[in-house]
Amino acid sequence: MSVKIAKNSGFCFGVKRAIKIASEAAQGNHKIVTLGPIIHNPQMVEKLASEGIERVNEVSEIQGRPTIIRSHGVKKEVLEELIANNIEIINATCPYVSKTQEYAKELSEQGYMVVIMGDKNHPEVIALSSYIEGECLIVASAEDVPEKKYQKVGIISQTTRKIDDLQKLVSIFIPKCHEMRVMNTICNATSIRQESTLELAKESDLMIVVGGRNSSNTKMLARISEDFVETFHIETACEIDKKWFKGRNNIGLTAGASTPDWVIVEVYNKIIECMGNINQKVDKIKDIPGFKEEE
Ligand code: SF4
Repeated sequence: MSVKIAKNSGFCFGVKRAIKIASEAAQGNHKIVTLGPIIHNPQMVEKLASEGIERVNEVSEIQGRPTIIRSHGVKKEVLEELIANNIEIINATCPYVSKTQEYAKELSEQGYMVVIMGDKNHPEVIALSSYIEGECLIVASAEDVPEKKYQKVGIISQTTRKIDDLQKLVSIFIPKCHEMRVMNTICNATSIRQESTLELAKESDLMIVVGGRNSSNTKMLARISEDFVETFHIETACEIDKKWFKGRNNIGLTAGASTPDWVIVEVYNKIIECMGNINQKVDKIKDIPGFKEEE
């Protein structure tokens, strides 16, 4: 029996950066808040709260305290409101998300009807759409595209979507418009995690996906894996049921870009324990078979 982790599992560059910015800011200031969860992982949000970083959901709850902007950004109007209220802003928006916002603004200024492929209720997409001055269409997939013709269409994507879905969307629009610009805003960290999860799912007879239930990229990894093998999406080791492993030989483990290392290590060790191999427990993610750090 073996347990293997997908290469590049866990924290991506943007999440590591956001946590570092927040932790450093908290050291010098004990009255700091994040507007919304800094990343989509309840365990990490809880840990930051224990370091004195309070989470608020509305600008009215900030009460003059320095405010961290989360990795997926906030609406343009919210930033403007913070500036107008002289709130100190600590911007932890991932640079790739900021770039997507710049593209959205640029395309709309150039007269393109901007199409965002993504989840209209996700904070990243809500923030992104605020940078579009003109016409905007948010679609979850190619199936949502209305039956009509367009002049100029500019396509961008939520950073955590699948490249295949973006390709399908582009093909749907080609006969529907006169002119098209496509910005591939799918983040590399997302695509490499998806590819390594796919690879591992194909060679496993059970997959465990670890990460926040509110994490879009983790849910996407679970969807990819489910197409090949039975898959359980969990947030912590406590959810593991020993019965899942009965009769299984190759267990695959993967984790979203917002899943902390310590949560992944706990899950791995719990699986090992369920399989009766306690001497194979590890202390660090890098010691889990198959792990490779993102370059
Ligand atoms: S998944 Fe990509 S875009 Fe999102 S925070 Fe990580 S590096 Fe940034």
